[in-house]
Amino acid sequence: MLKIALPSVFVLAIGMALSVPSIAEEPVPAPKPLQVPGNTRFVEGVDVPLRKPVPEKAAKASAKQERVEKAACDLAGAVFEIRTPISGEQSGDAGCGIEEPVAVTAIETGAERVNFRGTVTISCDFAKIVTDWVRSDVLSISEKHFDARIETIATGPGYQCRRRNNQPDGKLSEHALGKAIDISGFRLSDGTFVSVEKDWGKDTKKGRFLKTIHASACKRFTTVLSPEGDAFHQSHLHLDIGCHGKDCTYLICQ
Ligand SMILES: [Zn+2]
Repeated sequence: MLKIALPSVFVLAIGMALSVPSIAEEPVPAPKPLQVPGNTRFVEGVDVPLRKPVPEKAAKASAKQERVEKAACDLAGAVFEIRTPISGEQSGDAGCGIEEPVAVTAIETGAERVNFRGTVTISCDFAKIVTDWVRSDVLSISEKHFDARIETIATGPGYQCRRRNNQPDGKLSEHALGKAIDISGFRLSDGTFVSVEKDWGKDTKKGRFLKTIHASACKRFTTVLSPEGDAFHQSHLHLDIGCHGKDCTYLICQ
């Protein structure tokens, strides 16, 4: 596994709580404070949502405008809807927002359809990467590990206007820009559920599947955090395309 030491700027998060998007079958673990002196690992997932409620989204664009926007966001293979731009002001924090948001509900390839559990609101550019990853990597990996196909990916909501810690001037989470997604597991067509929380790290078919999924994600995303990453990612994989390092060449895969 690729591990890259991070600058001390990433030393974050004492006593912060994790808020995992609600996924019915995967209970959210109790908040666990990070009390590891000298810990230099990336702890994006300790983000705490802002207390301000997110206002209702702006009125939908006209059908004509939506068609124009849809043409602009070419998401072959994704089942999605264009959403009107989400501004930071709308979300209660000027730093948040997505210029080209899309609401993705499933990924298709041929006759196969993989549903997201709920709607995932992310930026168009991030959605392209997620779509390509699911179609090209996730489906073929599942075929090699299981007889059943993936029916549902247990995803979080994607967009969340929040910062990485409780400080109002804390760095924005990539979720706040629509460039991150959390995955807590995979439901197969035979009813099997592969749980990141329960199956990660085990020498089982499910455990090996998750390891392979993780490795494939590290080739497409700039940040991939698993239960091995830190105490705050025991229940899900966090994937984002954030910029690390001066020239955005750092990759975080842990
Ligand atoms: Zn996340």
